[in-house]
Order: sequence, then C-alpha cells, then structure tokens
Amino acid sequence: MSLAEEEASGHHATAATPVVDLSNVVFGYTATPVVEDISLRIDPGEYVAIVGPNGSGKSTLMKLMLGLLTPDEGTARLFGEPSHRFDDGARLGYVAQHASASKEMPITVREVVKMGRFPHVGFGRLTAEDREIVDRALDTVGMAGFADRRVTQLSGGQRQRAFIARALAGEADLLVLDEPTVGVDAESVEAFYDLLDTLNEGGITILLIEHDLSAVTEQAERVVCLNREIYFDGPTAEFVESDALARAFGTAATFVGDRQ
Ligand code: ADP
Repeated sequence: MSLAEEEASGHHATAATPVVDLSNVVFGYTATPVVEDISLRIDPGEYVAIVGPNGSGKSTLMKLMLGLLTPDEGTARLFGEPSHRFDDGARLGYVAQHASASKEMPITVREVVKMGRFPHVGFGRLTAEDREIVDRALDTVGMAGFADRRVTQLSGGQRQRAFIARALAGEADLLVLDEPTVGVDAESVEAFYDLLDTLNEGGITILLIEHDLSAVTEQAERVVCLNREIYFDGPTAEFVESDALARAFGTAATFVGDRQ
C-alpha cells in the first residue's frame, strides 16, 4: 500500500501520527526570537522531559506545542493538526504548577474530576457510565477517599493527583505537566512520579517540564535540553553522560534555588 493509499484508508494516520510535531519553529515575543529553529517530534506513548534554565523558552515551547502561541516561522502540529486549530481539548490533560492551582474555586475533588467528562457530554447530563469513569479515575490516582473534600483543603500532592484524575476522566492521551511538584512534599513527589510511570505504562504520552533534574533523570525516557535552541535531545542515560547540561546552562544560568 502506498503512503497516499494508507492515508486515504485512515490506517496510517492513526497508527503513526506524532502527538507533537514541531518543524523548524522560530518564535519571539519581540523581534528577538526566544525559541530558534526547533524541530521536535513526540510519538504516542513517549515520556519526555523538557529541561533548561530559567528563561530558556520551556513555557514558550509548550505554548507553541499546544497552539496557545503561533510560530513566526516553521510549523507546529498537535495530533496531526496545526496546533492553533486543534480543538479536541479532551485529548489533552494539563497540570499546572501547584502555585496556580491554589486559586481554584472551592469545589470538591469529584466536581473537578467530573469536569473531565464535559467535553464528552456537551451540555447533556453525565450518564451512569460517565460517573463510573469519574470513580475509576479517582481510584487510579488514589483519591477516592477524598472525593467529597474541597480542593482548597488538599495538600499540594493530593491536589495535583486530583487534576490528573480530571485528565484521566477526560480520557486524555497526552498529559502536559509544568513543574508539577513545585511546593509538594518529598514523599508525595515520589508517589506522584510513580503514578505518572503507571499512566505512561498504560499508554498515555507524558510531557514533563521540569527544573528538578533528579526527577527528570529518574523518570523520563527522553530528555530535551533547551536554551533558546535544542542542546540535547535523546535518551536520558545519554543526557546524563553528555556535556549538554553545562553547555545549555552555562555559568551565568541558574536553577531555581541553586544559584551558581
Ligand atoms: P522558561 O519557561 O524556560 O522559564 P519562558 O518561555 O517563560 O522560559 O521565557 C523565554 C523568554 O521569553 C524569556 O526571556 C522571557 O523573559 C520571555 N518571555 C516569556 N513570556 C513573555 C511574554 N509574554 N512577553 C514577552 N517576553 C516573554
């Protein structure tokens, strides 16, 4: 079967479409680019960490991937569609930093998780099956016992798990996490990464933006090290052995809480 025939039959498109596909992307908020000539492909089921010093363009790159910003040059695709036109929000679960979650409305954990079903039911009511999916998501993240508690009354780690449950209830196949464990206690951090591992083994693609390099090197299969351009993209073990970190972070650059 030729590529064109495969595409026409629909088989090729579903089996091989990258989750994220950036090609020669350039973007600047002003005339000076903050990300330059970035090409990056993330396939279904991968566990990828994006690391780089403060101001290296990690958040900008994430926004370009998700279509919240449009490249000045090059192309950005999400699940095969131009990112800025992608509108199947249910396929994508986003977990922000703990700090921004504290502004959430005082609703219960179950209500947060139910929100994950809304894209599936439109304006209709949740069916018994939807409610079952919500319960299963709560179970998976170990939050069934906290379902009726307000999210404002949870620890940082519990709150992050509730947001993951919302993504699971939405049947997301991509989880994007932006420094999800900032402000979360060490014990919960471990449980949180264990959960991500389990979800990834179940087939969910994970894109983790992290400044905590120990978490990255323990968890992700692949590291993308960024400082305006890509300094390294490959298996985590190779990243650890490489000099990419020193080159990307330089001497002037700093980690949060780790000034050189
Ligand atoms: P990181 O997430 O790695 O800390 P960012 O993507 O937030 O990096 O920032 C990359 C660069 O773009 C920085 O120099 C930052 O100051 C600049 N920047 C980020 N957001 C904006 C914005 N909304 N307007 C102008 N400049 C911005």
